[in-house]
Amino acid sequence: MNDYPYADRYAVNRTLPEHGRPRTDVLAEMREMATEEDAFWETGKISGTMYCGDHEHYEFLNEAFGMYAHVNALQRDMCPSQTKYEGEVIAMALDLLHADAVEDGAPAGLVTTGGTGSILHALVAYREHARETRGVTQPNFVKPETGHAAFDKGCHLFGIEMRVAPVDPRTTAVDLDAVAGLIDENTIAIMGSAGNYAYGTIDPIAELAALAAERGVGMHVDACLGGFILPFAEDAGLKIPEFDFRVSGVTTISADTHKYGYAFKGSSTLLFRDKALRNAQYFHLLDWSGGKYMSPGMEGSRSGGLIASTWAAMVSLGREGYREHAVEIFETAASMMDVVRSHPELRIMGDGTAGAPTFCFSFTSDEFEIYHLVDFLGPKGWRFNGQQYPNAIHMAVTRPQTRAGVVDAFAADLADAVAYAHEKHAAGEEAFSGAIYGGVAGGLDQATSDFIVMVMDDMLDKQQALPPAP
Ligand SMILES: *Cc1c(COP(=O)(O)O)cnc(C)c1O
Repeated sequence: MNDYPYADRYAVNRTLPEHGRPRTDVLAEMREMATEEDAFWETGKISGTMYCGDHEHYEFLNEAFGMYAHVNALQRDMCPSQTKYEGEVIAMALDLLHADAVEDGAPAGLVTTGGTGSILHALVAYREHARETRGVTQPNFVKPETGHAAFDKGCHLFGIEMRVAPVDPRTTAVDLDAVAGLIDENTIAIMGSAGNYAYGTIDPIAELAALAAERGVGMHVDACLGGFILPFAEDAGLKIPEFDFRVSGVTTISADTHKYGYAFKGSSTLLFRDKALRNAQYFHLLDWSGGKYMSPGMEGSRSGGLIASTWAAMVSLGREGYREHAVEIFETAASMMDVVRSHPELRIMGDGTAGAPTFCFSFTSDEFEIYHLVDFLGPKGWRFNGQQYPNAIHMAVTRPQTRAGVVDAFAADLADAVAYAHEKHAAGEEAFSGAIYGGVAGGLDQATSDFIVMVMDDMLDKQQALPPAP
C-alpha cells in the first residue's frame, strides 16, 4: 500500500472534514512523517536538495518565517519591512556577484520563488525588451544543450523559439561556433551556466558574453546552482572562470537563495546589469474596476515569510558563514572526486577542463553501464541524480556530505558498487535504474511520455483515487 503514501497509517481526506481535529493531533501526525522523511537525507548520502541540512539553522529561519508567514508582500503600505528585506536581499546578491564592477548600466534585481521563477522572469524581460527596443516579434533564445530544462519550459510558456547548441559529450563544453550560427536578428538572448545542473561544469561565460555583446543580444548566466558558492571558490584555492558581472556582456544572472544561499525553498534572485531590462517585464493596469493594479513580477500575492527568512539567512551567515560552508563543501567534493578517480573505469565529466567541476560532479564509465552503480548504491541509501547522453550520475555536494564519515562510506560503497557493476556487465545484465530528473527511466517514445504524464497525475490525484479509509 506504500504506493499511496501513509494510507496504511493515517486517515485519507477525500472530502473536507466536517469537524476539525485538535491542533496537537494534526501536528503530531505531521511531525511523524517529517521526522521519518528527514532521516532519509540526514545520512549525507543524498545529492543536492538539502543544501544546508542544519536543524538549528532551519529553526532560526522558521522563527523569522513565522513572523511574516501571514503577510502579503504585495501590500507594501502595511509592511514596509518587506521593502527593506527584499531590497537588501537584492543588494546583497548584487554585491556578491560583483555588480560594483558595472559601469554601463544601473544594476537591479528581483526576488522570485525559485530558479525556474528567475529563469522565467529573465525570458519575459528579454522578450519584452527586444520587442520594445528592436521590434522583435518572432523571438528566439539560444542555450547550450546543458542549459537547464527551465529555459525550454519558459520558451514553451512565452512563445519563444528555443535553439539548442550541442556540447562535446566528453568535456561538456558548448560548441561556440554552433552558438554563433544559431544567433540571428530575432535572438533575444543566449545563456551559459555556472555551473550547469547535470555536470557542475562552468560554460565559457566570457566567450559567450563577448559573442552576445558583439551580436547585440542579451547574455544570461544561470548561476542558480553556483551563485552562492562559486564566489568563494578562490577561498578554497580553486581557480574558476569568471562568470559574474565583472564579465562585460553578462546582462542577467539567476542565483538561487534556496540552494547554496541556505534559505527556505521558494526563494531565488534574478539580477540585471541594467534596470531597463528588469522594468521591461513590469506589469500594471490602470483601468481596472478593482483599482489601479501593479506587480513587479509574475506573482500577485507573495509570502512575506519567504522574503523575510531569506534575508535572515543571508544576514545571519554573512560572507564569513557562506565562505566557511563553501570551503568545506569544495574540500568534500574534491575528496569524493578523488575517490571516483581512484577507479580507472570511472570518468568525471569535464574533469581537467577550464570549467571543471568543483562542488557538483558527474561521472560515467566507458566500461560498463553506470546505472549498475545506482542499482547497487540505492539500497545502501545513496541517491544520485541521473543523466543521459551519455548516461552518467551526479552528486551535488551539500552540507550533509561534509559530516564526518560520509566520504569514507562513499569510498567503501563505491568500491563494492564498481565490483558489482563489472559482474553484471560480464553477465550481460541490464541495469534497472534510469535517467530522468526526479527518477523515472525510459526512452524518447510515446510510451515514456505517457508514463511521465501518469507520474505527474499520481503526484496530484492519487489521494482522490483511494478508497475511503476504513
Ligand atoms: C536548480 C536549477 C535550476 C532550476 O531551479 P528550481 O529552483 O528547481 O526551479 C536552474 N538551473 C540550474 C543550474 C539549477 O541547478
